[in-house]
Amino acid sequence: MTTKTDFLVIGGGSAGVATARRAAKHGARVILIERGRMGGTCVNVGCVPKKVMWQAGRLAKSMSDMPDYGFDGNPMTHDWGRLVERREAYIRRLNGIYDSNLDREGVEVVRGAAQFVGPRRVRVDQAEFEAEHVLVAVGGRPSRPQIPGAELGIDSDGFFALEALPPRVAVVGAGYIAVELAGILAALGSQTNLLFRRDTVLRDFDAMLGPLLAEAMSDQKVRMLANSPVSKVERDGEDLLVHHGAPEPLRVDQVLWAVGRSPETQALRLDAAGIEMDERGFVPVDAYQNTNQSGVYAVGDVTGGPALTPVAIAAGRRLADRVFGGQTGRHLDMNMIPTVVFSSPTIGTVGLTEQQAREQFGDAVKVYRSTFRSLYYGVLDNKQISCFKLVCVGDDERVVGCHLFGGGADEMLQGFAVAMKMGATKRDFDETVAIHPTSAEELVTMT
Ligand code: FAD
Ligand code: NDP
Repeated sequence: MTTKTDFLVIGGGSAGVATARRAAKHGARVILIERGRMGGTCVNVGCVPKKVMWQAGRLAKSMSDMPDYGFDGNPMTHDWGRLVERREAYIRRLNGIYDSNLDREGVEVVRGAAQFVGPRRVRVDQAEFEAEHVLVAVGGRPSRPQIPGAELGIDSDGFFALEALPPRVAVVGAGYIAVELAGILAALGSQTNLLFRRDTVLRDFDAMLGPLLAEAMSDQKVRMLANSPVSKVERDGEDLLVHHGAPEPLRVDQVLWAVGRSPETQALRLDAAGIEMDERGFVPVDAYQNTNQSGVYAVGDVTGGPALTPVAIAAGRRLADRVFGGQTGRHLDMNMIPTVVFSSPTIGTVGLTEQQAREQFGDAVKVYRSTFRSLYYGVLDNKQISCFKLVCVGDDERVVGCHLFGGGADEMLQGFAVAMKMGATKRDFDETVAIHPTSAEELVTMT
């Protein structure tokens, strides 16, 4: 028997849940198919558990700063198992909230793995579903390099399954996940090596940021192994040996791959519906989230666009507004998307990098930069610099890029992103009275 509905959503992650709920609010009959835990990557093995672990790392770092602030006493110990238990309990509560939100909006949830059997027709086990509109929101999974011994390591999903802190770890990669998880492991006491194949980390970001972070991580006892492509991993008793071009392999307890993510499309049989994929398996979409097949849309990580939860949510809600809410033309503008790397210290970035601005606008680009030590470090022996950059364009110096390296960047950026989205100029920044003493004031006092 085939169940017919208005809107079939495949995937209950950030994209699928947001789109399904908004469509149901507009009165559509919605069925959402999810094969795992509700909330997808972000809630279960992404943003949420990562931020909890990052907070723990931050507390550990604060404790090492405490003596300079006059605190004394026995050093505290850390119980990894207790933290994981509390983190997972929090996630289970979130899973429940996701389920009840869908229920409240009248979205029907089907549990199982979906597979296309025709255009806008999907099978889950023995049941078939057909809809006028179908959303592909299946997200992605961690990639592994094609090298001998890759299976001996873990990935970010495996990091969240760890029952104990590995005493010695090799993190391999150079992007968000590599620097975030290496920072957390080091802060919580693991002897951490970060191996990356080029000269620095975060190479897709403004060129100021990678080298600053590499130096800061080095100061925080992460061994930064640049130009270290890993060619093989071997087991030697309890240890793993990581071959990375040096005369001696690195001996560790755990290898963590953080070399990017791949779309979860291989089992979906997109070919049965005539839906195009690119050579990596991502589903190309236009600015309105349309795939090449009429009535089939894709949102979130599966599209190969910015792989960020708020992007998935915003694009999905706009799609539902357009298709079911009569809001013709509604779509997400992918310019000026702010993003934060939860490294130590944090990085916040929005808009064009200096390099991108110079390629687009040539000599019309003017860059302002401020390097400073935040007041927090005033009484500490161990000082950390902050560095902020504004990229401006044209005679009116419109601010087209903002790149922050330093404590508090994570909470600082959102408001500045609003201003930039509204077209703020350097003069608008300068006309805004500073808040003292903060790091954020540097952004309105740059000369
Ligand atoms: P997903 O959340 O992956 O959801 C896809 C869902 O589809 C999954 O639940 C999956 O089980 C389901 N599914 C797949 N195939 C099928 C099928 N055939 N049938 C039924 N169901 C299926 N982003 C941020 O903005 N901030 C952060 O701090 C951040 N931190 C991150 C940390 C880590 C370690 C990782 C891995 C990611 C992080 N991200 C972060 C990225 C963010 O998690 C993703 O961009 C977001 O989850 C994408 O949502 P999605 O709905 O596209 O995919
Ligand atoms: P990223 O795309 O951020 O980084 C992966 C990097 O790993 C590449 O850029 C590359 O850097 C390096 N790499 C690729 N292949 C290899 C290889 N074989 N060996 C060694 N290094 C390799 O991927 P992540 O997995 O870190 O994260 C996936 C996405 O999830 C992110 O892009 C982001 O959108 C999202 N995310 C967001 C977070 C946030 O918002 N805070 C946190 C975590 C993830 P190079 O070319 O320099 O070697």
